[in-house]
This record gives sequence, structure tokens and C-alpha cells, in this order.
Amino acid sequence: MLVVGAGLAGLHTATLLARAGHDVLLAERRARLGGAVRTTGIFVRRTLDDFALPPEHLGPPIRRVVLYPPSRRRPVTLVSERDEYRVGDMAALYGAGARTAEAAGVRVLLGTRYEGRGRSSYLLSGPDGPQRVRARFVVGADGARSRVARDLALDRNEHLLTGAEEVFAVPAGERPPTFHCVVDPALAPGYLAWVVDDGRHAHVGVAGYADRFPDGMRRALARFSAAAPGLDGLRRPAEAEVERRGGPIPVGGMLRRISGPDGLLVGDAAGAVSPLTAGGLDPCLRLSERAASVLDDALRTGRPDALAHYDGAELRARFRGRLALRQGLARVRTPAAAAAGFALLRTPPGRAAARRILFA
Ligand SMILES: Cc1cc2nc3c(=O)[nH]c(=O)nc-3n(C[C@H](O)[C@H](O)[C@H](O)COP(=O)(O)OP(=O)(O)OC[C@H]3O[C@@H](n4cnc5c(N)ncnc54)[C@H](O)[C@@H]3O)c2cc1C
Repeated sequence: MLVVGAGLAGLHTATLLARAGHDVLLAERRARLGGAVRTTGIFVRRTLDDFALPPEHLGPPIRRVVLYPPSRRRPVTLVSERDEYRVGDMAALYGAGARTAEAAGVRVLLGTRYEGRGRSSYLLSGPDGPQRVRARFVVGADGARSRVARDLALDRNEHLLTGAEEVFAVPAGERPPTFHCVVDPALAPGYLAWVVDDGRHAHVGVAGYADRFPDGMRRALARFSAAAPGLDGLRRPAEAEVERRGGPIPVGGMLRRISGPDGLLVGDAAGAVSPLTAGGLDPCLRLSERAASVLDDALRTGRPDALAHYDGAELRARFRGRLALRQGLARVRTPAAAAAGFALLRTPPGRAAARRILFA
């Protein structure tokens, strides 16, 4: 089995397959898994309940969310009675994931890029030059712009947001751990600007439709960061102490055709991201479990149609409500529209709906 991409989806799928006794090669183009991180790393309660993530690599729990209109006046504060979110130390989590994969028997090749598919083999290029490998199945865990999806002639993500954030250490202080979200189409067209402050690190970010940022995403992030909510009075760290992250986020919902005779897609490559919240860590772990089980079945039975059960169209139906809400958020194009949305949010049904989205 060849798994391409050592994000959370690839690491989890590879580990499960190796544990089931299969011979797994995991190729990752990044030379260091701690470099070029492309996620804030917010894990939601469902994921924390269902998956054994190493607790030492998770930040303090967050229960408080503050939602701001463009004016930032009269924000709406929601507090859960349970721990809702924890922000992962992603470099450490990827490192731990790779060690777990290796312990299960996965051969992990870092600094190794998947280049394409030949008639009976796959081409990888790594530190020792190009090599051809043969595999019964290939797993595309290679992110939102999957090359494997293209080579297997499967569906590809077309509906994407782009996000960028700054991450820096903050002094533990009086501030309660809080997730601040700003709905402002001038800063984050079609999505949100955010500050996640868990008392250890602050993540300050914006995301939206790339062609709708009035003066580009970088400038939007710089403007937001200069007056980020919840961080008043904190000293801005030197540039060298700020980690910068960013990347595309597929929000078109699960793709329909995510498997073929020679392999399948998981995680962002399969579009497994909530179209509304843009959260992809939970769906990528869940889909990886399903993928590993289908592949295990296919390898054990040798049935040529075994991967046909891995059907995105069926899974996509569960995203229908969230797709409709995404279309609603995409239509918020002016500060006036965002402010009108806040008028609804301040009503009891509005608050209840927000709680359901954010805490369920
Ligand atoms: C700015 C931002 C913030 C986000 N914040 C959150 C959040 O807080 N919570 C949440 O739930 N979701 C969040 N998401 C979404 C979430 O991060 C993703 O859905 C999730 O990480 C997807 O995991 P993955 O393993 O499918 O893909 P990725 O993590 O993108 O992994 C793909 C891997 O494939 C490798 N790769 C790509 N091409 C090749 C190739 N040709 N050869 C070899 N290797 C290759 C890449 O280097 C990468 O390591 C965020 C996304 C962004 C962009």
C-alpha cells in the first residue's frame, strides 16, 4: 500500500493499515513534519472524546466563544458548561503520529514527493533521487489540491477558502481561554477572522474566498492582527517569534467519486471538511477509519469491487445542512449584512442556533 501525505489523515490511515498486517509505505514531501503546518489545530469535543490524542500535546480546554460583528460592538458571548475545544501542538502531534505509524510497521519516507503514476508503478522523488514503487492500492492523503486524485481520475476540490494565521506564545494571565470570532466580510470574506487564546499560544487568523479579500489576504491579516480582539495590552512579539501558517480549505463538501479500482482519497483530498466551520481534523480522522477498513477488506477478499463501497455521494448527504449554511455565510458580502445577522444572533433562537453549531 502506498499512502501519499503525512498529515493527520495519512498518518492515521497508514497506521491502521499496518496494524491490520499490511505492508505500508508513507511518502511525505515535507522533510520535517513540524515544518509548514497548515492548520490552527483546534480539536472539538467529539474528536477529543472519540480519538486517543496524546493529552500532553493538547493545550488547555476552551469553553468560551465570543462572536463579534464588523463594528466589534456588543459582541455575543457563549459559554459552554463543558470543555469544547483544545488546540493541538501540531508539530508534536505529527511527530507522535509518525512514531506510532513506524511502531506499527509503516515505512515513513520524509522529504519524498509523489510525482505521478506510471503503467504499473508510482514515481517518488526523495533525498536519494527518483524511485519507482509498486503498490496494490494508493491512498491520496495529499491535501486539498490532491495530485493522487488527479492521477486516479477521481473528483477534485473546486470550492476552496484560503486561510492564514500567525501563532505566538502568550503569557498565561487573567484572560479566560477564549475563541474570538469576527464576522467581517472586509477581513474574512465568506468566513471568519479569529483569535484563539488558550493562555499558552494565540492564533490570529483570517480566511475567506481568495478573490474577495478587498486588498489581499496578507493585508487583511496584518490589519486584523494590529487590532485583534482579546489581546489588548499584550506585547506584540518580535517577527522571529511568530510562526506563520496558511493554506487552502475545501468547503464544497465531501466529493462524490473518492475511490476507483486502484485507490482512494482521505481527508482534505476527499473534501472531508465541514463546509460551515471549515473544521477538517475530525472528519479526516473518521474518514481514515472507514478507508482503512474498506482497504483491509479489499486486500483480504481480493474482490475487485471492494472499494466501490467507499462512496462519497452517500457520505455527502450528511453535509447537506452545513452546505446550505455555507452558502448563507458566503452571501454575507457587506458589513450591513453581517450586522443584520448579529441582530438575529442576539435573539434567544439565534443564540441557541449558534450554540448548536459551536458546541455540538
Ligand atoms: C489556516 C487553516 C486553519 C485550519 N484550522 C483548523 C482547525 O483549527 N480545526 C480543524 O478541524 N480544521 C482546521 N483546518 C482544516 C484542517 O487543517 C484540515 O482539514 C486537515 O488538516 C486535513 O488533514 P489532511 O491530512 O487531509 O491534509 P494535510 O494536513 O494538508 O496533509 C496533506 C499532506 O500531504 C503532503 N503532500 C501533498 N502533496 C504531496 C506529494 N505530491 N507528495 C508527498 N506528500 C504530499 C503535504 O505536505 C501534507 O503533509 C484548517 C485549515 C487551514 C488551511
